[in-house]
Amino acid sequence: MDAWRDDFSARAMAAGNDRAIVKSLLENISPITLWLGQTDLVQTQTAPSDQAEFAKPIWDYLATPLGATRITSGQQKLAALSPTLQAIETKYGVDRQVLLAIWGMETNFGGFIGRDDAANALANMAVEGRRRTLAESELFALMKILRDGDARRADLVAGWAGAMGQTQFMPTTYVAHAVDFDGDGRKDIWKSEADALGSAANYLARSGYMKGQPWGIEVLTPEGFDFSLADGTERRMESWVSAGLSPIRGGAFNTGGADVAELWLPAGASGPKFLLFKNFNVFKTYNRADSYALAVGLSGDMIAGKGGPVAAWPTHLTPLTVADIKDLQSGLNALGYDAGTADGIAGRRTKLALQQFQKARGFLADGYPTKELLAAVKAGGPAIN
Ligand code: CA
Repeated sequence: MDAWRDDFSARAMAAGNDRAIVKSLLENISPITLWLGQTDLVQTQTAPSDQAEFAKPIWDYLATPLGATRITSGQQKLAALSPTLQAIETKYGVDRQVLLAIWGMETNFGGFIGRDDAANALANMAVEGRRRTLAESELFALMKILRDGDARRADLVAGWAGAMGQTQFMPTTYVAHAVDFDGDGRKDIWKSEADALGSAANYLARSGYMKGQPWGIEVLTPEGFDFSLADGTERRMESWVSAGLSPIRGGAFNTGGADVAELWLPAGASGPKFLLFKNFNVFKTYNRADSYALAVGLSGDMIAGKGGPVAAWPTHLTPLTVADIKDLQSGLNALGYDAGTADGIAGRRTKLALQQFQKARGFLADGYPTKELLAAVKAGGPAIN
């Protein structure tokens, strides 16, 4: 750590950073045990390693974000911060329930903003080595924050991975998007709710958020629907309507002007099915997992009183283990379907390969991995039913 600090400090100063700022940022760094591999937090950043581990079903992932505690807290914040949220919505054009949802997802509305020093967390990441370039560029961003006077040295509190404040901005995100919404001269995303929410709104607005457009609409599919259309391709709303999709809550589609959408089946044909719009992808600038964006979308709707998913999740299906999914991926690859690296994560590429297999073998082509499909892929032969 000392060797890294000497080297990095020299490079930071050669790049024009003031010695006093570099020193104040790095003088008190010390090893954090989790970066030495003593907790499983680091492992969540890589592929799951436990062969017996079940891939977490999406309904388990959604349980906390859509739970009564989180939604009720969100609704209380929505009421308590109404004037601030109105001002933010007017300035940035981001719907308030989306800000509440992200704030809830990131820190439970400011309840858990982390206890580490951002510089220390990032220095540990740099020393650990796998993400050194990223960690060092984030440390350069911290230097800029101090140089510009946007925050004080003692303000820079972060979670273990270096994300800061109530809306968990990495330092580079802070430099690019944080705002002083309450006008006190500092961009205080740690203690000022207005600054944190205004900053999140600014970030979403610059990422292309479209006010008044849905992130997604839960749909009904007609009998005999071709689920292979849920392939990640955006299609025009007219083509979805002519394919027989309709809003599960009834009536006509109200897309606020959005004219293209993709069909997504987070849990296959027997779970809730969604048309996704541009705003869903904007949520993914915060966290690129589809499950995260779905949690933001659904919890925002529920905080706004619009209700959650209507269709039931297929909780009766036995979840596959990580090892099962690796087998499925290897099997699909061996059959000539491109499931990508057998990493045990059933991502979009795996689902697409599975859909192609399902379609070729006469299964419902929903891309949802089940024990039955795993057996069929392993058998390699024609469809078993
Ligand atoms: Ca401020």
